[in-house]
Amino acid sequence: MSHAYRGRFAPSPTGPLHFGSLVSALASYLDARKHHGSWIIRIEDVDGSRCQPAFTEQILNTLNSYQLFSDEEILIQSQRSDTYEHYLIQLKRQQMVFPCNCTRQSLTQYDGVHPHVCDSTTTQPHSWRLKPSSTLYQCQDRIQDRLVFTDDLKNSPALKRKDGFFSYQLAVVIDDHLQNITHLVRGADLIETTAQQLYLYDLFSWTPPSVCHIPLITNHAGDKISKQNHAKPISNGHLPTLLRALHYLTIDLTSPTSIPEALTQAIDAWHPDKLKNIKHLPLEAADRHFI
Ligand SMILES: [Zn+2]
Repeated sequence: MSHAYRGRFAPSPTGPLHFGSLVSALASYLDARKHHGSWIIRIEDVDGSRCQPAFTEQILNTLNSYQLFSDEEILIQSQRSDTYEHYLIQLKRQQMVFPCNCTRQSLTQYDGVHPHVCDSTTTQPHSWRLKPSSTLYQCQDRIQDRLVFTDDLKNSPALKRKDGFFSYQLAVVIDDHLQNITHLVRGADLIETTAQQLYLYDLFSWTPPSVCHIPLITNHAGDKISKQNHAKPISNGHLPTLLRALHYLTIDLTSPTSIPEALTQAIDAWHPDKLKNIKHLPLEAADRHFI
């Protein structure tokens, strides 16, 4: 590999860290350490209408309590609007984005998918949407194998919203590139974001990072554990929770007595290959206090 491994964990502070997020954080951390690489935390609070600084602090405290520290200064996306604007201007010059004033209501008749390239030449506030593409993107995922994306690039997502907030998709691609991130290890729920990101990498002529999507953690009903379905937050770092999270990454440890010892053993035992062919990682009934 020509570049030193650089990985990251990039939570959105829309709520406290939950069990599924801790598993994602650990997976990206273990993979980086296994490759003797850097591991960076980035706060993806680009959506100012949903994110709260109090959650940022809470998430960082939780990660620190599990001895998961960023190797570099933590990037806060809400402070980087000028950078995102710079690259949006580049896409405007390339004529790859278009202004749009369509209302959510007018889009409901198209199932919320933007149907065409509109042209709002008004001075009214408007969003900037990405032009659709018929390119078929694919990539090799270290756990999910070949990912082929069909039909994912026709909906013209807003890269900058009418209210001035930049989209997660634009910000994540720009920051991963500017931070020289070489490897993404993240939850399988983000597979669906990959095609748009590959499209943006293509438009900027940047090399995308290697991707690795870990299986989703599901509750007893088979639903994804997430803030949306009221996953309980985890707060104070303690060894049993960390061991349970590592267990979900199919890592068995030899009776560690401290978090640093467990992490050291886990780095040694980390083999993402073990997660191949696993669709979901169900939480057992005994773990229901996490969901
Ligand atoms: Zn429109």
